[in-house]
Amino acid sequence: MKKTIGSSRRNFLYQSGLAGLGMTLFSPADLLPGSSSKPTTMPDKNGKLGIALVGLGNYATGQLAPALLQTEHCYLAGIVTGTPSKIPTWKEKYNIPDENIYNYDNYDRIKDNKNIDIIYVVLPNSMHAEYTIRGFGAGKHVICEKPMAITVEDCDKMLAAQQKAGKKFSIGYRLHFDPFNLEMARLGTQKVFGNLKKISGAFGFKAEAGQWRLSKQYAGGGPLMDLGIYVVQGMCYTSGMNPIAVTAVEGEKTDPVRFKEVEQSLSWEFEFQGGLKGEGSATYDALTNFLKAEAEQGSFELKPAYNYGRQRGYTPNGDMQLTPVNQQAKQMDAFALSIKNNQPSIVPGEMGRRDVKYLQAIYEAMRTGKKVKLS
Ligand code: NDP
Repeated sequence: MKKTIGSSRRNFLYQSGLAGLGMTLFSPADLLPGSSSKPTTMPDKNGKLGIALVGLGNYATGQLAPALLQTEHCYLAGIVTGTPSKIPTWKEKYNIPDENIYNYDNYDRIKDNKNIDIIYVVLPNSMHAEYTIRGFGAGKHVICEKPMAITVEDCDKMLAAQQKAGKKFSIGYRLHFDPFNLEMARLGTQKVFGNLKKISGAFGFKAEAGQWRLSKQYAGGGPLMDLGIYVVQGMCYTSGMNPIAVTAVEGEKTDPVRFKEVEQSLSWEFEFQGGLKGEGSATYDALTNFLKAEAEQGSFELKPAYNYGRQRGYTPNGDMQLTPVNQQAKQMDAFALSIKNNQPSIVPGEMGRRDVKYLQAIYEAMRTGKKVKLS
């Protein structure tokens, strides 16, 4: 590890999103009391809110910063990095003034910077809690990447910090803004092909040795934390339900050196109300990527399902004919609009906490070999 852990538009987006499908997956009533009630201040530059990206790794560099050139309601105002050599390129490419550039030590001074409205935490998983809490401490709205944290206790601290700050909080769940995944949710929850009989999904890629993703301390777990979370999410929004119990098994560890600290692969089975089953798996040792729902009148499926784009969808009536979008731009614009209009985030911290709870339950089921009940 190179560092130590130190110290009436939103309605349109909402209509086109899960909530517009009349779903009750995650209603504002699920939010913690007070978490969306305080009016928010809104320093504004050309009508856009300023975002500071915290951690300039692959996702921030390859996806989020380019997406911020396509957003209508927010823009890249600042950066927080522990690697000074990255600064010149970012300064030049995104026209970032020196006063909007921070490191992890002087990060809290961002509270005095009126040009930064939103902090976007894009750090290794175990650092999400600290930098989200410090972001709220600086009086900013926060987007935190998935998984929200590595423990439910950390999620609770993050939500408490949000409540104290009276700011908005969102998780980087970009697929809630992807038309293909929204279509899966519509087909499933509106029972377009009848009641669901089974949902299945898998996500995997080959994780190279030597990165934080293979460190229990930094990642909190293996492919389940990083990739399985997409499958968990897909099952919830396609069924419109939350699971009530889970069983899980760890896959064979064929590379015990690379996977010394975390699982190489695992699979789980969710039980939903009414007997629906959800079979999921995640792996760091193979390429796999799908979300499938089997319904009374046929199956519908995305393959691939979780990419930044290029999803393909299949239904009993033919292939899905949908226009891809920039998921990250939509996601960040929706959050900026939720701030401007003082409305709850479509993908709030409470949803992130729910998912961390499910991930922990899957691990518990895997460790104990027993069924774990979920409230
Ligand atoms: P990277 O390893 O590419 O980047 C992480 C960055 O965090 C580093 O470049 C570094 O930035 C900073 N950092 C600070 N301390 C450390 C440390 N001790 N070890 C490593 N990095 C450190 O990771 P990703 O960009 O792939 O992932 C970051 C987060 O984004 C994760 O939580 C991941 O789950 C999430 N993610 C989400 C995706 C999505 O589709 N929603 C896709 C990919 C990732 P610097 O040098 O600037 O300090």
